[in-house]
This record gives sequence, C-alpha cells and structure tokens, in this order.
Amino acid sequence: MTHQREMILEVVRESHTHLTADEIYERARKKLPRISMGTVYRNLDILDSCGFIKKLQPGYAQMRFDGNTKDHYHVVCMRCGKIGDAPIEPSDNALENLENALGNLTHYGIFGHNLEFIGLCPACLEREKSLPEDEQIDHLMMEVREDGSQRESNRKKSHHRIRR
Ligand SMILES: [Zn+2]
Ligand SMILES: [Zn+2]
Repeated sequence: MTHQREMILEVVRESHTHLTADEIYERARKKLPRISMGTVYRNLDILDSCGFIKKLQPGYAQMRFDGNTKDHYHVVCMRCGKIGDAPIEPSDNALENLENALGNLTHYGIFGHNLEFIGLCPACLEREKSLPEDEQIDHLMMEVREDGSQRESNRKKSHHRIRR
C-alpha cells in the first residue's frame, strides 16, 4: 500500500464519526500537506473496493466513510447528515424473527436486509425546538402523510421517502 493510501486509511480509522470525503481531505492534508483532493477521492474508492473501509451512502445525506467494516447499523440525521452507530446487533432476535416472518408471508427466500434509522441528532433536535412549528420535522412528516402528495422542496421530498 502506498504511503498516501496508508495515511488516508489511518484518518478514516482514527475517527469514529463517519467523515465526509472533504473532512478526510482536510485531515489528510495535515499529515501530507501536498496531497490533492483527487488523490484522496481516488484512494477512498480503492480502499472501499478492497474492503478496508466502507462507503456509506444514506438516503438522507452526503456520502461518508466508515473505518469499521463489521456489519452494523447507523442512525442518520435528516437535518445535518451526521451519522452515528446504532447499538443494535445484526444478529438480534427481533431482526431474525422479522426476516422469518417476511419469508413466510411473501414466499421469498430472505437472505438479508438493509436497515437505516433516520431522525435528528441531539444538536439538531435542540435547534428544532426554536423553529416555527410548521417547519419542524414532525409537522412536515405529518403533512406529507395526510395528503400523500410529492412536494417540491428538497426537505419535503426527503420526508416523502419515509412512507416507502
Ligand atoms: Zn443533525
Ligand atoms: Zn458506522
């Protein structure tokens, strides 16, 4: 592995907050001042396809990178895109039961699932309280549920996805 690639891997592994490519670039630059954005992006792709790191592409937010490649779940903030680890094991009984039940109901052979939790991070939850009621997440979600129509603004469009 090249020195540059090793440094980028180190940056991703050192952080437990699921960094964006830009954040990784900023941190890599402190170790290797002359590294370019393109080099960082290219190496992130290679590290991802070799399984050293995991590219996260949540429905609600910007792409991020995870230094922990073991199976685990995430909770995504709908406002700022921050991603946290969800303290739930993929082997939890509830999930296994759900897969079995679904197999019986649909007659599909179920081999796995994708699961992503969405909500507001503590900081955004705090800010949410100061917003007018009709801009709060709860209200927007309710509105979409009631009329079922697709909205124009990005935020409302993203809430629409919840219904799927
Ligand atoms: Zn947030
Ligand atoms: Zn993670």
